[in-house]
Amino acid sequence: MTLGETTAAPTSPSPLAAAEQRLADLVRLSPDAILVNRDDRIEFANAAALELFGVSSASELLGHSPLEWFHPDDHEVVRSRVRRLLQGEPSVPRNTVTVVRADGTARRAEGAATAFRDTRGLALQVVLRDVTERERLDAEVRAAHQQRSDILESITDAFYAVDAAWVLTYLNRRAEASWRRPRQAMLGQTLWHLFPEAELSEGAEALRRAMRERTPARFETFSTFLHTWVEIFAYPSAAGGLSVYFRDITERKRAAAQAAESELRARARAAELQAVLDTVPAAVWIAKDDRADLVEGNRFGEALLRLAPGANLSTTAPPGARAATFRLMRDGVEIPPDERPIQAAARRGQAVRDYELDVVFDDGATRRILGNATPLLDAAGRRHGAIGAFIDVTELRQFEGWLRHLAEALPQLVWTADADGHLGFFNQRWRDYTGQRPGEERWEEALHPVDREGVLARWRAAVEQRTDFELEHRLLGADGQFRWFLRRAYCDQSSRSQRWFGTCTDIHDLKVSQESLRQADRLKEDFLNMASHEFRTPLTALRLQVELLRRNLRQPEPSRERSDRQLKGVEAQVDRLQVLLGTLLDVSRLSAGKFTLESAPLDLADLAAEVVQRFRPEAEGSGTPLRLQADSTPGHWDRPRLDQVLTNLIGNALKYGNRHPVEVEVRAAGQDAVMLVRDRGLGIAPEHLGRIFDRFERAPNTGAIQGLGLGLWIARSLVEAHGGRLSVESKVGEGSTFTVTLPRGIP
Ligand code: ADP
Repeated sequence: MTLGETTAAPTSPSPLAAAEQRLADLVRLSPDAILVNRDDRIEFANAAALELFGVSSASELLGHSPLEWFHPDDHEVVRSRVRRLLQGEPSVPRNTVTVVRADGTARRAEGAATAFRDTRGLALQVVLRDVTERERLDAEVRAAHQQRSDILESITDAFYAVDAAWVLTYLNRRAEASWRRPRQAMLGQTLWHLFPEAELSEGAEALRRAMRERTPARFETFSTFLHTWVEIFAYPSAAGGLSVYFRDITERKRAAAQAAESELRARARAAELQAVLDTVPAAVWIAKDDRADLVEGNRFGEALLRLAPGANLSTTAPPGARAATFRLMRDGVEIPPDERPIQAAARRGQAVRDYELDVVFDDGATRRILGNATPLLDAAGRRHGAIGAFIDVTELRQFEGWLRHLAEALPQLVWTADADGHLGFFNQRWRDYTGQRPGEERWEEALHPVDREGVLARWRAAVEQRTDFELEHRLLGADGQFRWFLRRAYCDQSSRSQRWFGTCTDIHDLKVSQESLRQADRLKEDFLNMASHEFRTPLTALRLQVELLRRNLRQPEPSRERSDRQLKGVEAQVDRLQVLLGTLLDVSRLSAGKFTLESAPLDLADLAAEVVQRFRPEAEGSGTPLRLQADSTPGHWDRPRLDQVLTNLIGNALKYGNRHPVEVEVRAAGQDAVMLVRDRGLGIAPEHLGRIFDRFERAPNTGAIQGLGLGLWIARSLVEAHGGRLSVESKVGEGSTFTVTLPRGIP
């Protein structure tokens, strides 16, 4: 019996027939298409086959080649299988072919075939199962898988999936790269087998909890395997396992740690800055905007302005926001808003240095402050405020004021100098003495040209070695005269601004009197030499006369006439000694002021005639013409004293007159009487004219001519005692004229 026969209606109810009937029913009911082919002709087709091929009756199939319903691409493989079966192979592998239905639509069918032999020869039975739907679903599933793995491959996180037994079922490329092992070597292995060292880690514990409790987990852990920080997301999967994403967060961790660290550092710096602001003994004011309308200060800054902590210290804040109850003044004038240091820095970007101003409170109290302000700029260079730091110099300035007063009260010229040796402050006395104007004091210019180099060298050395300084030198006064000063300076090692405090003390008079004392000593010595010489001359002459007299008297007959002459000679020398002694006595009397005038009516013409007469023999002896021209000039004077004056003057004229004529004149001149003695002799150089009237002073013109240097001094003293004047006019080589002017009215 063949399947082909079963298509005929069942006729016999025998057991065999019943079995055949059941088989035939199975074939009829089979959802798979069943065909019997013989000699490439369809001999039988069940209902499922009709449906597969899309025909309504078996007649459309029977007798046709099955190939007519297969897609041409499949013909070759179908034929080859048919051939193999017909050649005796018991079976060929299943394969899937495309069925082209009667209406032209395609269906996919999986076919299995076997050959059989019956009475009519070899035939093939073919079963075709419609797998169109299954293939479509398979394709869809594959596509879905592909899409999932595409996604998983493309994500930046590493991903892997494990099943409920921790077997690795999937991992993407990133996970493969992280774990540095080929994917195929890992799939199918358990996670703990792959990473035994991770099994006890806290990350593993978190994964196990997620698996156990079927809840998502997110955690960060340090992977000892990767040596990096990883962030892990684990989601329970529908299949009972876990889907796990992980990513390297080492960089993020580091950045976060760094951010935290720099935040800490910034905080620490801010704290330090605040500590500095709170402890610095200066007022610090910070403008918070580019108008400086909001100004905050440190504690010192608030206290200085007498304002509460946190107050807006700005003097330009709008009225409601302003706490300031003071005014900022300079030289007694309120500072315009834009020029106040903080405002100038904030509003104009101008740095202000060494600005000194007064904070004047409503109650009149004042603080003097000194400081700097500078603009605050952001990274782009835009002004956004300003900061100012000021110190309270009220007491300092007060103290400086006292020092200044002290400096002004001192009788000395006072000055100060900085560390570089520049003299800054000078007191008024300095300006009074030098005539230099305030702000234009130049101490070097006042130095005597002879002293200058020495003084400057010593000063430079003191500046360099920071030592005290002391030196005597001359300073030019406003009157054009130099006076001697003792310059002293104390070096304050601690200060830079005012290192030296100096004074110049006028020691001129002391110096001059010391000098004149020295000179007086010298003069006295000269005088003693001179005096002993002056005395020796008449004494020698006296001794000679006495010796001559003795010889004469020892003669058997002494000559009376000779004796008289010799005695006259003795008398003359004694007179000379007496005059000398008188002169010395006059000097001591005049010097001691023990001296009185005894005035009486006197005509100077008479006096002059008498004195000239007395000099006649001497003048003639030396061959000097001596002339007198005297008008009667009566008055009240001390006769012997004026005799002495005239005697000195005429004596000098003969002594220094070089035998040229000597003239004496006497006349009245208004209220005065004038006596004049003129010679045409040596004359006196102008630089000595002032000195010759002093005690013991002799001009160098005298040469070998003897003298005590006292005559003119005595003469001037006597004339001045009469209220008169003794003056001289002289030219070297042309002679001298001494003039005595006396008031005539002296009673
Ligand atoms: P003495 O004549 O004893 O030296 P004086 O006091 O009389 O002292 O004079 C002081 C000096 O003045 C003299 O030493 C001399 O140098 C100068 N002197 C005085 N009279 C004349 C004169 N007529 N001509 C030139 N020099 C004179």
